[in-house]
Amino acid sequence: MTRRGWCPGALRPMPAGDGLLLRIRPHGGRLSQSQVALIADLASEYGNGQIDLGSRANLQLRGVREARLPELQAALAEADLLDGDQAAEARRNIILTPFEAEGALGSDLLSALETGLRRGPDLPAKFGFAIDTGPFSALQDASADLRLEQSPEGLILRADGMERGEAVKPQTAARRALQIADWFSRQSGARRMRDLVARGQLPPLRQEIAKPDPVPPAVFLRREPFLFAAFGASTAAALAGLDTGLRLTPWRAVLPEGLPKEVTADWLCDPASPVLRISACTGAPGCSAASVATRDLARALAPLLPKEGAQIHISGCARGCAHPGPAALTLTGREGCFDLIENAKASDPARRQGLEADEITELIRGPYAAQL
Ligand code: SF4
Repeated sequence: MTRRGWCPGALRPMPAGDGLLLRIRPHGGRLSQSQVALIADLASEYGNGQIDLGSRANLQLRGVREARLPELQAALAEADLLDGDQAAEARRNIILTPFEAEGALGSDLLSALETGLRRGPDLPAKFGFAIDTGPFSALQDASADLRLEQSPEGLILRADGMERGEAVKPQTAARRALQIADWFSRQSGARRMRDLVARGQLPPLRQEIAKPDPVPPAVFLRREPFLFAAFGASTAAALAGLDTGLRLTPWRAVLPEGLPKEVTADWLCDPASPVLRISACTGAPGCSAASVATRDLARALAPLLPKEGAQIHISGCARGCAHPGPAALTLTGREGCFDLIENAKASDPARRQGLEADEITELIRGPYAAQL
């Protein structure tokens, strides 16, 4: 099952319903052609061939067998995909914009942050950084606590939840971000920056420059040849077929760095595909907390949705791992059936309870058709 508070890594895999779940954090979300091929091989050899694309530009191998974990970790270490120890791995939560060229400012900031984070501070498991220094602001919706952003007035360091940030120089920006992370680590009971800001406990950052105007994902995801995985679920075969370097992203999509050799049917090329409006957690049987097969229902509902419309979330239980926020329609599994929740999140009160999958498809065809 997906355990509350457990942030898996490659050195600290998490037990799940289908074996160990092992999260790989490629540096800056970049994978070379040979690393892509290696990960596809390892997912088949040591896992069940299922690969999740995470919302923090990382990958998860599923169904890994415990007895073979040391061999798998050794192979990852050889390919520069493993940290030195569990603490350093846990701290290295950094999303780099996929829209910046190799060797540009973002790469330098990434490298400086990674170096600094090897030594500390001790941060909550989900605390993370976003480096949004591409030609436009793309990462404001991605999960992060401290953001280095390129604004029209220069580089800024901004705490998540604040409208303005401190003007920083490229040479000292990472050091300043680490100072603020250190300050955060000393605030008792704090887990995320946004929560601290919401209760008026502001970090010691000058509020000099307004955050840049964000460009919505619906706009920029059309500009580049992204490949999307429905529900973030991909496979070793789908990855191996591409045979090119990849940039991972927070949008359950990859950006190939070259021309893919083979784009299997697992990949979706159209960001407007209705199936991409459905999010679904692992559900049964991969997660032992679930009593329902979330993705089976998602696949059944996808063809019924119009080209444009609202978002549906299907959650195996009330935790809502894959989409903690509200959705127009949330279907939450409970005791083998689904509860239907409108304009709220997976744990909120249900409008209808105990629905079978075929009852839900009838509702989507009928009374809910106009809302979706
Ligand atoms: S929300 Fe889904 S993935 Fe998370 S614990 Fe519940 S069933 Fe498992």
